[in-house]
Amino acid sequence: MIILAYHSIAPHGELPLSVKVEEFARQMQYFHEQGCQGCSLEEALASEDRGNGERRVVLTFDDGYGDNYANAFPVLARLGFTATIFVAVSFVGSRRTFPWHSRTSPRPLDWGEIAEMAQQGIVFGSHTLSHPDLTQIPVEDAWREIAQSKDILEQRLGLEVTSFSYPKGKLSREIQEMVQAAGYKQAVALRPPQGAAPGRFALPRLEVSARDSSPVFRFKVSRLYQKLTDWGLDGYLNRNWFYSLKKKFSTR
Ligand SMILES: [Zn+2]
Repeated sequence: MIILAYHSIAPHGELPLSVKVEEFARQMQYFHEQGCQGCSLEEALASEDRGNGERRVVLTFDDGYGDNYANAFPVLARLGFTATIFVAVSFVGSRRTFPWHSRTSPRPLDWGEIAEMAQQGIVFGSHTLSHPDLTQIPVEDAWREIAQSKDILEQRLGLEVTSFSYPKGKLSREIQEMVQAAGYKQAVALRPPQGAAPGRFALPRLEVSARDSSPVFRFKVSRLYQKLTDWGLDGYLNRNWFYSLKKKFSTR
């Protein structure tokens, strides 16, 4: 099972973590051609328990950018893929811009867009209320961020919300226990999760960014890359010669 972490899907891939629309469409087409179905975390975990989860791809989007509706959703719908969007609930439908973008921040999703996507099979998970580093705030505040975001999403969607994504990938054992106690069934981190107990409440993800050209992306989702990751070599790959591949192929 591969879990991919996307953020914004923008026309020109303006931000460091945004992927261009046509690049995203190419990536999804690649999975489609490989006979790989984009599925939910729960489906993937269940099939892994049955021992056949190998070629499952779980697509996740963090933060809740409005461009997920405008740009990613049509591609997913066309191919019949589902995905999980983790929203920072206090930003939904507001004019607030995401504070981690210095100048031009894409607008957040609104509740109408979320309802429409949920009806079409897109799964929603919590990414807290205000997107804090949960390991750096008082315990009561962390609990409110984790539990209240779940309640609000469930009321709005009329569905159980079972998945959680740690803001900035920051977690600790204490935070994991809170997430579990709040009633979530699984939680995703970035790779590699630090300070965490491995397992269902620290599922590692591969981040996809504007830096990933087609060959790099295909390598990142390959079995070979999975093996290298299992051997703990992916950190090295990310930092060093891995991105020189991009330069090599981008002249084509
Ligand atoms: Zn985030």
